[in-house]
Amino acid sequence: MRDKIPRLFIVIPCYNEEEVLEESMKILRDKLTGLIGAGKVKDDSRIVCVDDGSRDRTWDIIAKRASTDDVFLGLKFSRNYGHQNAILAGMLESRKAADCVVTIDADLQQDVEALDDFIAKYMEGCDVVYGIRNDRDTDKAGKKITAEAFYMLMRLLGAKVIPNSADYRLLSAKALEALADYPESNLFLRGLIPTMGFKSDVVYFDVKDRTGGQSKYTLSKMLNLALDGITSMSTRPLELIVVLGLVFCLMALVIFILSMIDWARGMVVQGWTTTVALLCLIGGMNLLTNGLVGLYVGKTYIEIKHRPRYIIDQSIWDGSGVLELYDQ
Ligand code: UDP
Ligand code: MG
Repeated sequence: MRDKIPRLFIVIPCYNEEEVLEESMKILRDKLTGLIGAGKVKDDSRIVCVDDGSRDRTWDIIAKRASTDDVFLGLKFSRNYGHQNAILAGMLESRKAADCVVTIDADLQQDVEALDDFIAKYMEGCDVVYGIRNDRDTDKAGKKITAEAFYMLMRLLGAKVIPNSADYRLLSAKALEALADYPESNLFLRGLIPTMGFKSDVVYFDVKDRTGGQSKYTLSKMLNLALDGITSMSTRPLELIVVLGLVFCLMALVIFILSMIDWARGMVVQGWTTTVALLCLIGGMNLLTNGLVGLYVGKTYIEIKHRPRYIIDQSIWDGSGVLELYDQ
């Protein structure tokens, strides 16, 4: 149990969100005012908007709002680094000032009313609170199926991912400090955070339709996230390759014995079809498994370069008096 109410920082990753951002900022601002009024969070809580290299008016909207309302802070990336990095930046930059951080999408598909539950769990002493979606009714059929297949695959591969947990979650300052110690650029927060431990709990929330604009998660962004998820959390695919190799060796042995018998009985040509089929199969498996190993090697290559995970081009941070919070 905690007895002091937290200074809450809400982090919003924004990528080309000009259609929805103003409205979302208003809703979140009202919600935060409500939370402050109800004495659930401190009155110097903040909302941090991270512009992930948008090409539309997103940054102008953030900058304008931040210049008139002290509650809003802004970070602008030098280019598009992706959703996961945008969330990470918002969390890491906030961690010295905040007691806890909640991340939420700019389209507010996640119900802001769940914030009360997040704070309640924090007050109960949780360091990590996961938001779990009640259903996937608002998702298109394609997304629903791919998402479910992905979570099934992750479980099969032995990664600890909480199904249907969105990137709507609360982390305490302690958990954020721990997160800062993970240097990987192959970032899949949904898989990474459960491995940190800490007292955790879940909060259920309803998913709404996007209020405007299009989903910013293109198919290639989604595939990349899934690949990062698999390769960053598990090396089991590599182990499966070894097993597969063994199975094929055994099969080859059996086929060799069988063809020897065929040969002894003078039926040499008969095995031709099997040979060709096996040739294709083994060739295919070879390419596939080599490719898979290559994938891991590639990811390792990216990791060892230790490049920054994001670069901040502009930040509206100190003007709001938030820097003083760092010293407290
Ligand atoms: N987003 C981002 N960088 C990207 C893609 C998306 O910061 O490269 C943000 C986006 O602005 C939104 C959140 O990530 O706040 C979730 O994206 P979206 O709502 O488009 O995804 P979906 O809900 O369709 O999965
Ligand atoms: Mg969305």
